[in-house]
Amino acid sequence: MPGEFQLIQQFFQREQAEQPAEGVLLGIGDDCALLQIPEGKQLAVSVDTLVAGIHFPADADAELIAERALRTNLSDLAAMGADPLWFTLALTLPEANEDWLRSFSRGLFACAREYKIALIGGDTTSGPLTITIQVMGAVTPGTAMRRDGANIGDFVLVTNNVGDGAAALAMIQARINCDETSTTYLQERFYRPTPRLYESTLIREFASAALDISDGLVADLQHICDASDVGAIIDVENLPLSPALQTLNNQAQAWEWALSGGDDYELCFTVAPEKMANIAMLIAQGKLNATVIGEIIPGDKVICECEGEPYELTRTGYQHF
Ligand code: ADP
Ligand code: MG
Repeated sequence: MPGEFQLIQQFFQREQAEQPAEGVLLGIGDDCALLQIPEGKQLAVSVDTLVAGIHFPADADAELIAERALRTNLSDLAAMGADPLWFTLALTLPEANEDWLRSFSRGLFACAREYKIALIGGDTTSGPLTITIQVMGAVTPGTAMRRDGANIGDFVLVTNNVGDGAAALAMIQARINCDETSTTYLQERFYRPTPRLYESTLIREFASAALDISDGLVADLQHICDASDVGAIIDVENLPLSPALQTLNNQAQAWEWALSGGDDYELCFTVAPEKMANIAMLIAQGKLNATVIGEIIPGDKVICECEGEPYELTRTGYQHF
């Protein structure tokens, strides 16, 4: 791509150089970055690709594309109980558009500063617009929140509210009408989802299993069930819904979004009964916003109930293929 090196320098290397970065012995500019993992920690690594036209509209604001790409990757670190350290960025661009890159870089570094994660390298190629971000974080040995640790009798919780991701998509695609307050809230939830890193630091020593909700609560909780060889029950009436979802006055639709809509980026986690007092204390103190929505049971499936009666779901989550 013409001017590739100059563009990388202008929009990524120079920008990054202004931010102090822990453990970066050598950053952008050489064949590899050289990194020092904090003493006594393990490295948690995750990568995600966003393709224009599939994961976001090709004409979406570049600043928001960058924010969303980095935030959803940070959500994976939160789900694992890892603290952000570094990330790499592989960019495939249809053209070297300076305005687009300036805007992308602005969104990217605003988010990187907010969550204290440093860009340490990447790759730039020409082709259909595609963004791949790989994040790296530090975990204390033994405290990573894996998917395979849930046990029968554990409580199932989610942070904050579920269903906003699907409601936001419905709003953006003009399938529903919202008032001004809800519109602002849902836009923000969709384009700038908050990676639950703070919540992760509070729960990681007590949670037996965790993941972030990207494909839909039922589909994602099923991953914990598969890995842990257990079943789960969700009490639909306990699902935490945002005011935006409540004011729509369509409970069946709201529950459907909460159960099977994706893109919430909240944490779903399990807690053993003997550790539940610790979590309840954090909630009571107002430090943690989380709700008990169900329980781990014998079996291999996630089932839903409403006030003790079976609750049928029409679809269980987003699948790419
Ligand atoms: P190489 O050919 O050795 O892979 P590149 O020309 O791809 O080197 O990249 C040169 C330097 O710029 C490397 O340090 C690489 O990590 C960095 N880099 C390339 N593209 C990006 C990008 N989009 N964001 C951040 N760093 C990048
Ligand atoms: Mg390269």
